[in-house]
Amino acid sequence: MWIMSLFRPRGVVRDDAGRPCEVVPVRELHADERRVDEAFASVVDRVGRAWIAASSPKLLIAGLVGMQIAAILTSVLIWPGLPYWFAMGVWFVPVAAYGWWHSRTVLAKSAARVADIVLADGLCPGCMYNLGAQPDEGGMVRCPECGARWSATRIARRHEFVVRTETELEKQKRWWRAFGGADAWGPTRIEDGRRQRRPIVSARLRQPIRVATGERRKRLLAARREIGRERRVRRWMVASGLFSMYAVVCISLLMSRASTGYRVIDLFIGLSMLWLVVVFPVMIVRGSMGITAEGVGNAMLRQSLCPSCGFDLDPERGADGLTECGECGAGWRVSAVSSERRR
Ligand SMILES: [Zn+2]
Ligand SMILES: [Zn+2]
Repeated sequence: MWIMSLFRPRGVVRDDAGRPCEVVPVRELHADERRVDEAFASVVDRVGRAWIAASSPKLLIAGLVGMQIAAILTSVLIWPGLPYWFAMGVWFVPVAAYGWWHSRTVLAKSAARVADIVLADGLCPGCMYNLGAQPDEGGMVRCPECGARWSATRIARRHEFVVRTETELEKQKRWWRAFGGADAWGPTRIEDGRRQRRPIVSARLRQPIRVATGERRKRLLAARREIGRERRVRRWMVASGLFSMYAVVCISLLMSRASTGYRVIDLFIGLSMLWLVVVFPVMIVRGSMGITAEGVGNAMLRQSLCPSCGFDLDPERGADGLTECGECGAGWRVSAVSSERRR
């Protein structure tokens, strides 16, 4: 078992009886058949943000790029004649070791926050069993599945999650949404009024808006409009630059009448190029590139929404000039954000 835990590590927290509990990792939530339920999907979204906040994807990407450069340099300068693939294999070792260490640290760092998030919706952090129907035994709720014990006050909402298989359309939609996850390019962390680093809502607020209704939905949409205004011109410029670059390549390929000799392959290549021409620019314009944590924070606070978890803020709650979020406990200096919208 321990050897498996080397490859599939889990973050550990203590349950409210003081016993260690291995927290279910995000990837298992994505595979849960309750994901069709909107409340469950919201939990998965917030857990995902907590995971992103604890990770440093930029460093990992830098490591992968660095590996390529190091391999090229090795096979050209240091040891001429050494096959490139071999140099790559050698340099892959430290990068893989870092990736492995990184994934463990991320899970350890985010475990406590993930436990808070799933428990608030009545799910056991250790096994995702729905504790909604479990009785309160002297302030504690016991998980019949894994035996962990949790303080009943940590459960804010009790649900009966919908369980059914996804329709083909839902499956496709989820795939496209995950693909459009350009959200990870935007800010991943925000500092609250107490100078604590916390996860930040995704700049496009897709999941919160999907499940919100009425007046709350209007405020979320207003926040998204304001967030999207930041560096919009720059995003459009980058997108149109990419678009024209791809378009020029495509047109010159067409003009050259280059062919593989097979109609089907030509068609396939043509369609993939067309796809690149359209999809990347759209991802940039509709993604969160260039958006800052400060911009998201101010826009959310102006709408009385928590920049960390997206829940409604109660202005009456909190002390010392800070408004405390009833959901995630973040403290915000709402007075510092003028109610006047930036131009
Ligand atoms: Zn459990
Ligand atoms: Zn919050």
